[in-house]
Amino acid sequence: MDLLLADVRLATMETGGEPYGHARASAIGFAEGRIAWIGEAAHAPAASRRLECHGRWLTPGLIDCHTHLVYAGNRAREFEMRLEGATYEAIAQAGGGILSTVRATRAASEEELVAQALPRISRLAAEGVTVVEVKSGYGLDLEGEMKLLRAARALERLVPVTVRATLLALHATPPEFAGRVDAYVDFVCDEMIPAVAKAGLADAVDAFCEHIAFTRAQVERAFRAARAHGLRVKLHAEQLSNQGGAALAAAHEALSADHLEFVDDAGVAAMARAGTVAVLLPGAFLYLRETQLPPVALLRQHGVPIAIASDNNPGTSPYSSLLLMVNLACTAFRLTPEEALAGVTRHAARALGMERTHGTLALGKQADAVLWEIGHPSELAYSFGTHRPVAIFRRGAEVAA
Ligand SMILES: [Zn+2]
Repeated sequence: MDLLLADVRLATMETGGEPYGHARASAIGFAEGRIAWIGEAAHAPAASRRLECHGRWLTPGLIDCHTHLVYAGNRAREFEMRLEGATYEAIAQAGGGILSTVRATRAASEEELVAQALPRISRLAAEGVTVVEVKSGYGLDLEGEMKLLRAARALERLVPVTVRATLLALHATPPEFAGRVDAYVDFVCDEMIPAVAKAGLADAVDAFCEHIAFTRAQVERAFRAARAHGLRVKLHAEQLSNQGGAALAAAHEALSADHLEFVDDAGVAAMARAGTVAVLLPGAFLYLRETQLPPVALLRQHGVPIAIASDNNPGTSPYSSLLLMVNLACTAFRLTPEEALAGVTRHAARALGMERTHGTLALGKQADAVLWEIGHPSELAYSFGTHRPVAIFRRGAEVAA
């Protein structure tokens, strides 16, 4: 073995046993980037390196399964104007809103996008995040979307994080298609999805199904195009109103349906049948001062896996902390600490189609793990700003925390 962690407490996040998947073992071994052995330290096979952990807790690497963290500029001035009492119309006239981010992102080079996203993804990595999903959606033309997806992939070479890239062309209608939404959807289906799939730049296709964005019928066309090109789908669904998006996502075997504040019984039942993960985003809920809570009890009742993500984006959730979301999932959405931690490990892996290789500490999985100075895993949810990792391991090697 390459590395043995001894005198460690394992929150494996595997199901069927103790809370947090607490394993009755005091050591874990990594070999060739994978988890190769779990057992008692006294019986451990030989390892090139041995790390004494003094009873600290080891969790799986954290997974942020929903972000928009590659973009140019920010919307701090818009935030300020709104708090000073400006109306949405005044902000739009001053050039604010999502299209201001589109303008800035289109004007930025790929290198500039990487440089501006780097502090955000580095903050996530420093708190133990080892997988980050990044959505496009601020280019909204072929070159802009591909530039953003290339920038997302490039981040992987700069931080010790695995990046999953998602094409979100149906995020908003670009100005050149104003008033011609169906023509834009045609362009996305006929040109953008095939080109991005051919270039291997995206792992999935997402869309924003909402009365202020795209209809079910428009989203369905994009889903068909995505699946025809071998790409899985995800959906921003039921954030501001019930559009039947969750059921549509489930009908297309979506990896996840995200937000879900307004999802109904039929939508949740469809997700349960399809195995679609519910990704809850407490950052956006709080930032927008929403009052409609996602139906957590209904999701539990139907056995729908619940993931938690940062939704890092410049307009509605400019937060570069997944641990803050773990806390908010408990305080705002009333998840238990164990559910919240499963939401950023086991269920987040599933929301990205990575459940066979990531998300729990189990034999054969990629050795992504985080060592914490805590007395119990609930401490990770209980407070915020208190804990930072003692050590972070990615593919079996210790990386700079
Ligand atoms: Zn989002």
